Amino acid sequence: MKHFPIFLAMEGQKLVLSGGGDAALAKLRLLMKTEARIEVFTADPAPVIVTWAGEDRLNLTARALQPGDVAGAVLFYAADEDAREDARTSAIARAEGALVNIVDNLADSQFITPAIVDRDPVTVAIGTEGAAPVLARAIKRDLEERLPVTLGALTRIGKRFRRAAEALPFGRKRRDFWADYYFTTGPRALAEDGPQGAEEALNTLLDTHLNAAPRAGHVALVGAGPGDPELLTLKARRALDEADVIIHDRLIAPEILELARREATLIDVGKEGFGPSTDQTRIAALMTRHARTGAQIVRLKSGDPAIYGRLDEELTALDAAGVGWSIIPGLTAASAAAASIGQSLTQRGRNSSLRILTGHDTKGFAEQDWAALARPGTAAAIYMAKRGARFLQGRLLMHGASPQTPVTIVENASRADQTVLQSCLATLAADLDRAEMSGPAILLYGLAPRAALAEIPQVPEAAHGP
Ligand code: SAH
Repeated sequence: MKHFPIFLAMEGQKLVLSGGGDAALAKLRLLMKTEARIEVFTADPAPVIVTWAGEDRLNLTARALQPGDVAGAVLFYAADEDAREDARTSAIARAEGALVNIVDNLADSQFITPAIVDRDPVTVAIGTEGAAPVLARAIKRDLEERLPVTLGALTRIGKRFRRAAEALPFGRKRRDFWADYYFTTGPRALAEDGPQGAEEALNTLLDTHLNAAPRAGHVALVGAGPGDPELLTLKARRALDEADVIIHDRLIAPEILELARREATLIDVGKEGFGPSTDQTRIAALMTRHARTGAQIVRLKSGDPAIYGRLDEELTALDAAGVGWSIIPGLTAASAAAASIGQSLTQRGRNSSLRILTGHDTKGFAEQDWAALARPGTAAAIYMAKRGARFLQGRLLMHGASPQTPVTIVENASRADQTVLQSCLATLAADLDRAEMSGPAILLYGLAPRAALAEIPQVPEAAHGP
């Protein structure tokens, strides 16, 4: 971040602009929305600047800027559209202690003016560090459409009511009240009965919330998907948005944790497959302890919580403690991995079933129905298989699987650092050793990347007996 966005207090502050042409006009239109004292210096003001001065919306001095003019100002805009004049005026401004912006000169400016979506007192500032003004304008357009014009009015009414709302205890209760006002009750009342209606609705709403029964603690066991935040479900996003406490595994991508509310407590219980982890008993105790305080808890697991996520153990513990829970399924790693290689997990005539297995479990290498897996046309998604690959390979070959059986390993599926390793049973262990993968990887047994299919002999499932 080369530029740090802040909101500067402008009420009653002195702001100086040098210039009187188009660039000056464009900036002044924006600056006059603030409550600053605006002083314009130019020997050649556009007629509308003279009009604005006559309306007391700014102060006009009809001459070029001189030393002393910027004293006491917080911001200065050099808008003469003339490099030498801008250099002269900005040198004066810097010497007199103001932060300087030179219109259309990013390199010599100390600050830049963002694209602004104005729903005062709600303002959205969009900046691209000067890199992509087109993008900034597109984002602005998008937000202009999305944020109702009544948002400002709603916020001003809400702001006056903040004191009264302190009757509700700080935290979830007060948050629920405001969420109800801004997203449900407020917009409806404003549309139907105008500002007065919105104000009255606040009083009624406060009563309702003051008398509402306290919310019970609750645990949502949420699937975070394979890593790409866009592969979160809408329900998962909402749960993250509302959670007071988020208890997550190590595999959860930081971009996903970013979506949590700033005030939420994040607890990393560091579980990675069957690897070293916070003890299940401790996780259960954590969830129960927070739930007893009425907290809304998200127990965030990678992929789908029902696949190698110890979901049942945690549900049993929650049931035993009498804590309410719900499950929000997620996209499992196998789906993301198959998508990344353009493959279908089932295919008519090839495999009518898909096996989900693990290479490694609590007891070590996991034993499987090897004979069934060795049958031609079988497809399996093998989780936590990196360490067990040599063992898998040996067992499958021993049970008669073809050494040519395609195996594709997808590491960090759906993430920016995703890698795909195309292999076959004969060379699986050696290929994996060579690849030195360090991220989570899933092994798609019996599946080759779509692009490679032409080269691999396809064996229809029905044609082969056990
Ligand atoms: N519940 C998760 C699986 C948890 S077990 C799910 O449904 O996906 C952890 C294993 O999942 C890892 O060892 C790896 O095999 C697999 N895995 C999880 N995320 C992955 C990703 N982004 N890419 C590849 N494999 C992943």
